Amino acid sequence: MINLETPTKLDTLTYQANMAALHVLRPISRKYDRAEHTYPVELDGLAELVAQANAQQAGMSASDTPELPESDAGAGGTINGRNLASLIGLIEMCWGDVGLMLTMPRQGLGQAAIRAVATPEQLERFGGKWAAMAITEPEAGSDSAAIRTTAVLDGEDYVLNGEKIFVTSGDRAELIVVWATLDRSAGRGAIKSFVVERDNPGLKLDRLEHKLGIRASDTANFVLENCRVPKANLLGSPEITTAREGFAGVMQTFDNTRPMVAGMAVGVARAALERTRELLEEAGVPVDYDRPLVVQGAAVAEFIQLEADWEASRLLTLKAAWMADNRMPNTVAASIAKAKAGRVATDVTLRCVALCGTLGYGEDELLEKWARDAKILDIFEGTQQIQQLVIARQLLGKQSKELV
Ligand SMILES: Cc1cc2nc3c(=O)[nH]c(=O)nc-3n(C[C@H](O)[C@H](O)[C@H](O)COP(=O)(O)OP(=O)(O)OC[C@H]3O[C@@H](n4cnc5c(N)ncnc54)[C@H](O)[C@@H]3O)c2cc1C
Repeated sequence: MINLETPTKLDTLTYQANMAALHVLRPISRKYDRAEHTYPVELDGLAELVAQANAQQAGMSASDTPELPESDAGAGGTINGRNLASLIGLIEMCWGDVGLMLTMPRQGLGQAAIRAVATPEQLERFGGKWAAMAITEPEAGSDSAAIRTTAVLDGEDYVLNGEKIFVTSGDRAELIVVWATLDRSAGRGAIKSFVVERDNPGLKLDRLEHKLGIRASDTANFVLENCRVPKANLLGSPEITTAREGFAGVMQTFDNTRPMVAGMAVGVARAALERTRELLEEAGVPVDYDRPLVVQGAAVAEFIQLEADWEASRLLTLKAAWMADNRMPNTVAASIAKAKAGRVATDVTLRCVALCGTLGYGEDELLEKWARDAKILDIFEGTQQIQQLVIARQLLGKQSKELV
């Protein structure tokens, strides 16, 4: 039987994350939307509390790197593990503010990249640190196989050269997971990820971007100039394998990160829906689920349609994370969740702006900000079109060169 409730063991986490979002993130939301590139110092204390809560939730110390026991994986398909717990917390925090959540110390998507391919020794060294992820280059966005940054072995180090753009938390994180190729002529199988310390002198900050939304989050562009990293910082195996095997390792990152980005979309869309409902009620247009829509008017009918779409995106997102917890292949589910939630969040937040009229468009409310913040969730970690392409390839059994 399908159980549509979230696990009760996550109730405390949900409550705590919601309180943090309400009392820490929301009050400073507008301040850091305006003060782009200023670090939100208020987040330091909160990040510490979140780390402790996460560790408690997982029943371990803050520095541990949690791992689901192999023997439990998939047993009866009933495990709700780290992915689901992270997702539930993330949804609440993004209900508070997506940009601030993205710049919370230790919350970087780079950790998902590390967990996807790291050895136990690497997990020990890098687990728990604030890690950003640098895939995108001027000539490689949606087509991440086109990466030009090179990594050449020189003694005990790899030497990285290239350019990385639009790195979320790139300036503030402790680590940056950089994707680079060991041999451009070997194609996808030679692309590997490398952990680079943020203070590595070969990693040069070029500039910080000015953006439409998520302005509290820093977005950095880097040049890698003879950037030396220890050999042991190559995540996973250094072997150049066939395109499918080799690239599959790094692509696994997305199976972990896409449900999380979908969760961000679910969070911000819920914020917009809840505020819109309150404003409709204040305007004398209450939403009543028990009365026929035809007597409640067009605004309520539209609102309920948006809510239904949002609920579908939420359930798909929970499913993708739950599958990851249960070690089920979730590539299709992760892309479905990301495509649906990304589209729903941009649609819902913009339509909420319209439903609330001048209130929706003005800066007295956060609705216009949420509409700006939501747009990126349909772009990074793979755009709407790329998710659809991934889904189509998987369902039709086509390789990337067969369906472009
Ligand atoms: C605020 C922000 C933060 C970011 N953070 C990070 C980060 O932390 N790390 C990182 O590595 N990157 C990051 N990115 C980069 C982001 O992942 C890319 O912008 C995204 O993957 C799209 O790449 P692109 O911008 O080069 O667009 P392109 O790949 O040039 O795509 C342009 C348009 O063409 C469409 N398109 C491309 N190929 C196809 C196709 N085959 N079929 C149909 N349509 C297609 C796309 O959907 C898109 O609409 C960030 C970007 C932004 C704006």
